[in-house]
Amino acid sequence: MTATTRIRVLSDSVINKIAAGEVVDRPASVVKELLENALDAGARQIEVAVVAGGRESIVVTDNGIGMSRDDALLSIERHATSKIAEVEDIERIATFGFRGEALAAIAAVSRLSLRTCPQGSDAGTEIQVVGGRIQDVRDVGGPAGTRITVRNLFFNVPARRKFLRTEATELSHIRQVFLLYALAHPHVGLRWLTDEREAYRAPAGATLEQRIRDLFPNLPPDLLRPVEGERAGVRVTGYAGLPQLGRSDRSEQYLFVNRRPAGAPLIGFALNEVYQTLLPRGRYPVVFLFIDLDPERVDVNVHPTKKEVRFRDGGAVRDAVIEALRAALSAAAAIPAPSLPGAAAAPWPASPPAPAFPAVLAPISDLPPPRAFAYPRRSLAPFPIEPEKSAPARDAPAAETPSTSKSPWAWCRILGQVGGLFVVLETEDGLVLMDPHAAHERVLYERFLRQALAGGFSSQGLLSPETIELPAHIAPMVRRNLDVLTGLGFGLSEFGGDTFIVDAVPAMLGPISAREMLMEAAQSSDQGGARGGAERWTIERVAQAACKAAVKAHDRMTLEEIERLVVDLAATEMPYTCPHGRPTLMHLGFNELHRKFGRT
Ligand code: ADP
Ligand code: MG
Repeated sequence: MTATTRIRVLSDSVINKIAAGEVVDRPASVVKELLENALDAGARQIEVAVVAGGRESIVVTDNGIGMSRDDALLSIERHATSKIAEVEDIERIATFGFRGEALAAIAAVSRLSLRTCPQGSDAGTEIQVVGGRIQDVRDVGGPAGTRITVRNLFFNVPARRKFLRTEATELSHIRQVFLLYALAHPHVGLRWLTDEREAYRAPAGATLEQRIRDLFPNLPPDLLRPVEGERAGVRVTGYAGLPQLGRSDRSEQYLFVNRRPAGAPLIGFALNEVYQTLLPRGRYPVVFLFIDLDPERVDVNVHPTKKEVRFRDGGAVRDAVIEALRAALSAAAAIPAPSLPGAAAAPWPASPPAPAFPAVLAPISDLPPPRAFAYPRRSLAPFPIEPEKSAPARDAPAAETPSTSKSPWAWCRILGQVGGLFVVLETEDGLVLMDPHAAHERVLYERFLRQALAGGFSSQGLLSPETIELPAHIAPMVRRNLDVLTGLGFGLSEFGGDTFIVDAVPAMLGPISAREMLMEAAQSSDQGGARGGAERWTIERVAQAACKAAVKAHDRMTLEEIERLVVDLAATEMPYTCPHGRPTLMHLGFNELHRKFGRT
């Protein structure tokens, strides 16, 4: 009996088909690989056209560097890449590709045609490959760049083809890939056609903001806040959606690490940490987040499709993301509200209390009598400029009509205050706890800032001018930023040496000494460049003034005061956090209550 061998070496064609499964599992992964190659090739303009959800054809055309005939032939070989030569290169990889697998894999499981012409030459090449076998190579003319056509994906792998989902599902995966790359490369022009219809057109040379507008015309730009932060070498930029934009799933979270679309569980944790108090359970924020750090601190080689990355020091990344998002959401109100007639003219502190509460409040007749809250009243007046004149008036009413569209509830009822601190509210979709100090801070902050920005920076003359000698490193900053400081409301003249005479200070800024104020403003203007620095300083001062003026944590409030606060908070731009990013409201929805009580 002759011994037969049971073990055999697989043929290349079988190996390629198996390997292909790792890289290409559906039409969207083909689109991803081809887009990455086009971007790696330095294309300025890329067009993606798919027919029948990518089952019938996927065509990606770019105007990148193109390939010579030899390179084109090599490009469809397995492990053929122009992007790395040594294993160490992976550590500092700057291109998307490096495995040299994608084209070979796609070619193995489709009818692929590659047409390419290197820049500055008109000697183009066209190659036809069917199921990994080259059928035809010929010379062609044509514009520089590369066009890859993938037809009948998985025609020779019936098992895979069977697992493709409906056209609509495959299309939505392709769309997601397209959007991710289009967002990461606003300078590159992109077009997407499905079944010959143009679905997206995003012009080249855009900023991220324009790109978001081009791709998401239905996303109200005023509900996106710019994110900008850096911490321990981790830069976090992009846009974060206000809680009103909450979604029922995570599909509108576009995350990038070093410009690659990538996720990592810890980014999810960070988002959760920031938004958990802002969004009810089961709602997810819209974010466009770019995390950039030294490539050596990221491991991208976790998975062949490189969707998930690993960080060498995850904690630093998490902290950076949290900090940047908090700052973005809490600075939300820093953008002056455009439609506020009269706000500029409103004297400050403003008029007497509003006569009636807007209709956002439900009747409170079934509440315990107001008497239960008859603790000594505390003035909720905004920060007094002239203390003697700012009568014990309660909080000034908002000059604007509250925009109920943005308010966190359609109606609400005040149930009381617990622990001498937290206000308990019922709203249409559950229970809300409010920290009155944080809430009041938010209300005052927005009001002060609006006044500061609308009315310019008014100046307050000092009774007697002060001669201020500044530290040697600050004095030059003052000299450099004299214009900016004057614009902020300082009356300044040089006295010689490092000494200045101050005869006026910005009006809105509360009880700090002229010297302290001048030093802060000079440093901030110097660091942030004229406008940005002055603005940042103003915002910071305003936040401090709001904090000082806000009702203190354990002050008992009257029912009336609570009502006023609730109404004012609902009318703010960003009711969910105080200017320092701490939550003002905590939401416990009926769904969650039902779940907690085991009711289904
Ligand atoms: P990788 O991108 O990992 O190197 P691929 O199989 O995706 O592997 O591509 C193989 C090689 O083919 C690339 O390294 C690149 O040199 C070349 N190539 C692929 N697509 C393009 C393109 N659109 N334009 C120019 N060169 C390309
Ligand atoms: Mg590639």
